[in-house]
Amino acid sequence: MPERFHIITQGCQMNVRDSEAMAGLLARMGYASADDPADADVIILNTCTVREGAEDRAYGRLGQLRSFKQRRPGLLLGVAGCLVQQERERVLQRAPWLDFVFGVHNIHRLPELLREARDGCMPVYEVWDRSDRDRPLPVLPAYRAASGGGGVRGFVNIIHGCNKFCTFCIVPYVRGRERSVPPEDVVAEVRALAGQGVREVTLLGQNVDSYGHDLSPRRDLAGLLELVHEVDGIERIRFTTSHPRDMTRRLIETVARLPKACEHIHLPAQAGDDEILRRMHRAYTAAQYRETADAVRAEMPHASLTTDIIVGFPGETEEAFDRTLRFVEDVRFDAVNTAMYSPREGTPAAGYTDQVADDVKRRRLAALNRMQERIAAEINAALVGSRQDVLVEETGRKGGVLGRTRTNKVVTFEGGGDLIGRTMPVEIVEAGSWVLRGRELSA
Ligand code: SF4
Repeated sequence: MPERFHIITQGCQMNVRDSEAMAGLLARMGYASADDPADADVIILNTCTVREGAEDRAYGRLGQLRSFKQRRPGLLLGVAGCLVQQERERVLQRAPWLDFVFGVHNIHRLPELLREARDGCMPVYEVWDRSDRDRPLPVLPAYRAASGGGGVRGFVNIIHGCNKFCTFCIVPYVRGRERSVPPEDVVAEVRALAGQGVREVTLLGQNVDSYGHDLSPRRDLAGLLELVHEVDGIERIRFTTSHPRDMTRRLIETVARLPKACEHIHLPAQAGDDEILRRMHRAYTAAQYRETADAVRAEMPHASLTTDIIVGFPGETEEAFDRTLRFVEDVRFDAVNTAMYSPREGTPAAGYTDQVADDVKRRRLAALNRMQERIAAEINAALVGSRQDVLVEETGRKGGVLGRTRTNKVVTFEGGGDLIGRTMPVEIVEAGSWVLRGRELSA
């Protein structure tokens, strides 16, 4: 019986994709996947460090994993991801029982590290070095058992790192500067995913809108969408995350024109007050953001537009918060990922002296969530009676099936597992803020 691995993924879709690459490498080494960590010979925790809470969760999980090691001394326990990239020494101090650690730029070295750990050189570690910044990015195999969407959806990294340096964000320090994946490698990976049954592909990066500026010849995301659009078997293409400053009219027009490109744009605004945006180093004003949002809706009137908003950023006055509320009300987003600002050690904003009190942040978050829930319910209610094409991803926990519209809204309806991977015509019969309920129509 082959040895087995179990990967625990924390954080964003980039981490999900990194975990797929780790799983791909392990599968290539002959390991099989274990659903339960108790059955695994190798466990890897792929960590996140975007917020303090994420870090606490990672350390908490490491503590839990120690008990597996105590029960099975032969077990190899590794930790990867942004937390390691950020603070390798502290990770090793707090979890000296680890066998191997590696950062986000050295996933390709996992087989080697594992062999060294097996040979008893412990702990083995390898993290990204600044001199690695210009190294060509290795293309890694993907093993999709780790991905969501029941194997229907696949994720492909198209650009690593970020050059933006928003004052609240640790990502550029952890993931380094932007490095685009050559288009031929992206297309090859999408083809491989299509061959494995993936129907919807999401092109990933911290700032996908700046894709290709570092390649020679220079490329852009619109051109990449055209290439991915040619891949047989792929029905839907999405991309995330975009940056309002870098989203071009050419990109918006391309999404509107290409039948497989889904009319859902996730465009993080972070705030609707110009002074807060300036202090965040977001490099656009609320009015400029509105222009881009208007351009999206002019090209694609039925597109969904979603965003991220941080409340309680240092220096956010009641007036500034009100401007953000009015901005959210005006733009009428389909969904908003809301978060209270939490200082991230190592970022400029953590050192700002005008931090907002926690109770004020909580009150503002609740006010924003209340308002957005109402707006989302109103937008979704207007869909009742409409026909939507739903790509079925999985069976629902309470029966029936679950899938998404082209605009990325979750729909549940009656049906069996045989529908997974199929795009079904569905009439929306009921709508809440988050989920729509539908009824299958005959095609
Ligand atoms: S653009 Fe996104 S990833 Fe880059 S620094 Fe800003 S918040 Fe972080």
